[in-house]
Amino acid sequence: MKAAVYTGMPIPGQKSTTVEVRDVPEPAPKDGELLLEIEACTVCGTDLRTFRHGDPKIQAPRILGHELCARVIESRAPEANVKVGDRVAMYTVLVESADRGTERGRENLAMNRPTLSYHYDGAFARRMVVPALGVSNQCLFLVTRETLPEHLALAEPLGSCLNAHSRLRIGLNDTVVVIGAGPLGLMHACLARLQGARKVFVVDTNPVRLELAERFNIDGAILSESTASHREELRRLTEGHGADVVIVATSSSVAQNDALDIAAKAGRVSFFAELPKTAPTAALNVNHIHYKELEITGSYSEKKSDFQAAFALLHSGRFPAEKLITHRLPLEKLHDAFPLMESGEALKICITP
Ligand SMILES: [Zn+2]
Repeated sequence: MKAAVYTGMPIPGQKSTTVEVRDVPEPAPKDGELLLEIEACTVCGTDLRTFRHGDPKIQAPRILGHELCARVIESRAPEANVKVGDRVAMYTVLVESADRGTERGRENLAMNRPTLSYHYDGAFARRMVVPALGVSNQCLFLVTRETLPEHLALAEPLGSCLNAHSRLRIGLNDTVVVIGAGPLGLMHACLARLQGARKVFVVDTNPVRLELAERFNIDGAILSESTASHREELRRLTEGHGADVVIVATSSSVAQNDALDIAAKAGRVSFFAELPKTAPTAALNVNHIHYKELEITGSYSEKKSDFQAAFALLHSGRFPAEKLITHRLPLEKLHDAFPLMESGEALKICITP
């Protein structure tokens, strides 16, 4: 079968491709495992990063793809919570044993967290084996109503957003600003709206992205310019108070500083996006934290409970998933997805193997 395989780190002057769509042997499940036929797998920002820069954490060769919806076509796991014929979405963090992170319900922070598409083959292929750990940890979630597979594939990225929201306590009186109008930023904006936020604004440096953002139920899409006029604009829109909640969904220390600046007194700020590993430090105006008593939280991957909540939301049909999927491509055209994502033309791209 055809699969998108990560082939290892790029080597300057020798090898620039890190991801190849090529023929691989059909996977065969062993005892305790299941075989899935993939219906949809959406492309993640981490796939793009892996494609451009490689990722030393991925054991090559490895089939990528971790945002999936599939049908069970073979079971060698009689104890599994799903059976042949069932449609499923999958939580892809497969913690091996009880440790501090798991005991606290924070699988994402477990010391040892093997993950689909890093340590096990993923879903950019027609078929994929669910590792025994995924079965015994009940990582598969049963689809019980007619829902498009590409909508349910969004449970993984939406779950990572809900992980950040689990510490932001967004409520009816809150004005929420999301910096970064990529797919995850817009998911944050939609979640804030669903949680009843009074006003939701989205900020980005890319006008193409802001045009897409206007399709969503938000109160304003604001262009961020080097003159920092967007800070003034946000102050005006929040009657001088600033934003109760600011979510930084773009990998930029300028945006992190913007967040601290535009946060209201007693505001909550989420540093949702990481900075590049090669430049992880930033000069921040920490007096904003001091004088405004800001709460700043980070967010990494997602807890199983976040995935479950995201799955339930998508399954209910109440989340505007259809607006997030802007492109559909066959597996052979996976490479076309990356420039579309970089230009801001695409939000989520669905691969149908
Ligand atoms: Zn993802």
